Amino acid sequence: MPTSDKFRDECGVVAIHAHPEAEKLAYLGLHALQHRGQESAGIVTSDGEHLRQHKAMGLVADIFGGQVLASLRGILAIGHTRYSTAGDSALLNAQPIMVQSNKGAIAIAHNGNLVNAGAIRAKLEGQGSIFQTNSDTEVLVHLIALSREETLPDAIADSLRRVEGAFSLVMISRDRIFAARDPRGFRPLAMGRIPATTGEKKDTVVFASETCAFDLIGAVYERDVKPGELVIVGPEGISSRFYAPSPALSSCIFEQVYFSRPDSVIFGRSVDLSRDNMGRQLAREAPVDADIVVPVPDSGNTAAIGYAAESGIPFRLGLIRNHYIGRTFIEPEQSVRDFGVKLKLNAVHSLLDGKRVILVDDSIVRGTTSRKIVRMIRHAGASQVHMRISCPPTIAPCYYGVDTPSRRELIAANKSIEEIRQFIGADSLAYLSLEGLKKACGDGESTTYCSACYTGKYPTKIDVEEILPVTAAR
Ligand code: AMP
Repeated sequence: MPTSDKFRDECGVVAIHAHPEAEKLAYLGLHALQHRGQESAGIVTSDGEHLRQHKAMGLVADIFGGQVLASLRGILAIGHTRYSTAGDSALLNAQPIMVQSNKGAIAIAHNGNLVNAGAIRAKLEGQGSIFQTNSDTEVLVHLIALSREETLPDAIADSLRRVEGAFSLVMISRDRIFAARDPRGFRPLAMGRIPATTGEKKDTVVFASETCAFDLIGAVYERDVKPGELVIVGPEGISSRFYAPSPALSSCIFEQVYFSRPDSVIFGRSVDLSRDNMGRQLAREAPVDADIVVPVPDSGNTAAIGYAAESGIPFRLGLIRNHYIGRTFIEPEQSVRDFGVKLKLNAVHSLLDGKRVILVDDSIVRGTTSRKIVRMIRHAGASQVHMRISCPPTIAPCYYGVDTPSRRELIAANKSIEEIRQFIGADSLAYLSLEGLKKACGDGESTTYCSACYTGKYPTKIDVEEILPVTAAR
C-alpha cells in the first residue's frame, strides 16, 4: 500500500541513432534538458554489439566529465535526466534501466508516470518477478522481458498496451533505438535528424523530450512521436507502428506553463508563444493600474513580457536571479526552501522604490515562494504589489509525471483566492482563467490538453492504490 501520495517523476530523455560520437550527442542533449531533472542522469550506449552504461547522482556536466564519456563510446545512445526528492533519490532509481532479456540486452529511459504500475508490479511479484528499484519504469522492463511475443518490437508493443498513464520513452538494444508515447500524449517527445555529412552514409535520427536539445546538437526537428506510436530505427531504416488507438489527446498543459523551456516546440507549438499569449490574456482578464510589470525570473519572464505588451505598462527586471544554485523547489525541507528564495532572488531597490508593481509568475504551488517574494518587493520600497499568475489555481496533484505536492500542501486546494492573497501579502491577486490558458496554448489546434491540476478531473482512471509511488518501498 502506498506510504506516500507523491508521484514525482519529472524527467528528460534523449536518443541518438547511428552517429560515430553518439555518447557525446546524448550528453549534449541531456545538458539541454537539465531543467527537466537535476538529481541524477544516465547514458546507455551501444557499439553495435554491447551495451554500456553510466549513471550517477548529480548534474549532467559533472557526471560525464573526464574519462566517463570516452568509456561509453558508441554509435547508438539513450540518455535520461531525472528529478526526484530526497526520499527516492537513490542511484538505484536512476535511469536508463538496463536488463538482459531473452531478446538480448535492452535499456529504457522514461518520462512520465504509469498509473497502473503498482497493480502490475503486485501481479508480477506474485508470479515470482524480483524488482530492483521502486520505479514504475521497471514494470515495463519486466513486461518486455516476460512477453510471449517473439520479436523485441512485438514485445515492446505488447507491453505498452498493458501500461496506463503517461510515458514518453526511448529504448536501446544492440542495434536499434525505439521511441514511444502513450496514447493520450501526456508528455512531449520530438523526433529530429542530423543530416549526414560526407563520409557518413546515413542521417542520424534523434529523439528528445524537447526540441531545445536538437538545437545544441545540430538536429532539425521533424515531427513529434505521435500518441500511441512506436518508432523503431534500425539497420533497415525507420519504421513506425501504432501499438494502440489514440483516444482524446491530453497533453500536459503545465509543460507550456512552466516545465518546458521557452525555446522549445512542444506538442507542435512554441512554448514562448504560449507563454507570451498567457501574459497578454492575463492582462486582458485581470488589468490593474500600476507603474511597472516585474517577472519572477525565470518562470514568469515570458508571461510578464506578454502582460506588459498588452497593458502598455513598462516591463522591468525588478528581481535578479542568481543562476548558480539549483531550483529552490528541489530543497526537501520547508525551512531550507524559504531560505532558498533569498539565495536565488534579490530585489532591485532603485527600480522598485515607490512603485506600484505587477508581479508575474507562472504558478503558486504551496505559496511559500510567492509570500517571500512579495515581502522582498515591499522591503525594496514598492508601494503596492499586485500578483498575477499565468495559469489557474493548482488544486489537484498530478499523477502523470509533474511534481506537485499532495492536496494537503497545495494552497489553492485549501484556501480561497482572497485567503491566498492575504497569505502571500499582496494588494491584489489574480490567476489566468482555464479558458484563457487553453486559448493561449492553442488548445484544439495541434493537441488538446490535460488540465487535471486545475480541475481535479483526470483523463484516466486514478486509483492511488494502483499507482506506484516512488517512495512506497522505503
Ligand atoms: P511555491 O508556491 O512556494 O510552492 O512555489 C512556486 C514556485 O515553484 C513557482 O515560482 C513555480 O515557478 C515553481 N514551480 C511550480 N511547479 C513546479 C514544479 N513542478 N517543479 C519545480 N518548480 C515548480
